[in-house]
Amino acid sequence: MKTALITGINGQDGLHLTELLLNKGYNVFGLVNGQRQSHGEKLKAIFPEVNQIRGDLTDSTSINKALDTAQPNEIYNLGAISFVGVSFQQPEMTADITGLGVLRLLEAVRSNGLEKVCRIYQASSSEMFGKVREVPQNEETPFHPRSPYGVAKTFAHYTCVNYREAYEMFIACGILFNHEGERRGFEFVTRKISSTVAKIKYGNATELRLGTLEPKRDWGYAGDYVEAMHLMLQHEHADDFVIATGETHSVGEFADLAFQIAGIENGLERYVKIDDNLKRPSEVDLLIGDSSKANRVLGWKPKVSFEELVRLMVEHDLKLGKNAIA
Ligand code: GDP
Repeated sequence: MKTALITGINGQDGLHLTELLLNKGYNVFGLVNGQRQSHGEKLKAIFPEVNQIRGDLTDSTSINKALDTAQPNEIYNLGAISFVGVSFQQPEMTADITGLGVLRLLEAVRSNGLEKVCRIYQASSSEMFGKVREVPQNEETPFHPRSPYGVAKTFAHYTCVNYREAYEMFIACGILFNHEGERRGFEFVTRKISSTVAKIKYGNATELRLGTLEPKRDWGYAGDYVEAMHLMLQHEHADDFVIATGETHSVGEFADLAFQIAGIENGLERYVKIDDNLKRPSEVDLLIGDSSKANRVLGWKPKVSFEELVRLMVEHDLKLGKNAIA
């Protein structure tokens, strides 16, 4: 039986990945942060078989102990300050967790003598492309991050490449484009839209406030993307892979389709209010990924289309009902 340690196990990707690995018969350990006991309760309710270890990517001692306890064959580093908007308000914390946290983890792997036996997945991000240098973006596209989050992810990515080369560690970096779903946090624009559209449908909201409708993203389904993470660690060599759908859509298109799926006519015109306070100091205008390498080498391709994704999220939030959505 293989053993995996997942950081960021309580996040959207952590939960999808846990489900996938448990179904494959893995023994799963999760690094759970936060001081309160309640941080592990939701996870325990969904996946009681997960072994929870208290720890944090800012705390080397706890990372060392987690590795010593779990003795993992695979580590999936999904822990991060993952919301770009917040990274502008808390850049130092973002650098510490999202950036330096990776360095701490890799050093802990080395000091536990696991560098030759443990395979590591790093959650790199399309936000590293930022102000894009070419369209679509692939593994060779230069980075130009546009937020403290993107900068921290770029530091983490190059740290992984360096440790791969310097110490011959098996570290695969998945450059994942935006991926969403029914477990997405409410601060991200897709979930904000699907949940607010559901509230409008039930008469619990009168408007959908957005910073801008223009930016375009390559949105895929998180459930498809965690399969790519697992495949990367089963491959012969550690490498970098872009994971994307190859399609791009604007925030406005996402919202328009969400209103249509909920059966609300002219939703964009009737309910969307542009709020300058929600605009970012520097924006990523266009992301569209070329995942042909992942397809060729790993046999990976996305299954859920853009329209299916929007439908899945809106229908989920409609089902959650009138009062369930905060
Ligand atoms: P990101 O691509 O990781 O930053 O994912 P988000 O879902 O947070 O944002 C996607 C895009 O939607 C970005 O270009 C945001 O600037 C844009 N956007 C417009 N209005 C909003 C809003 O109210 N909330 C969020 N989160 N994003 C918004």
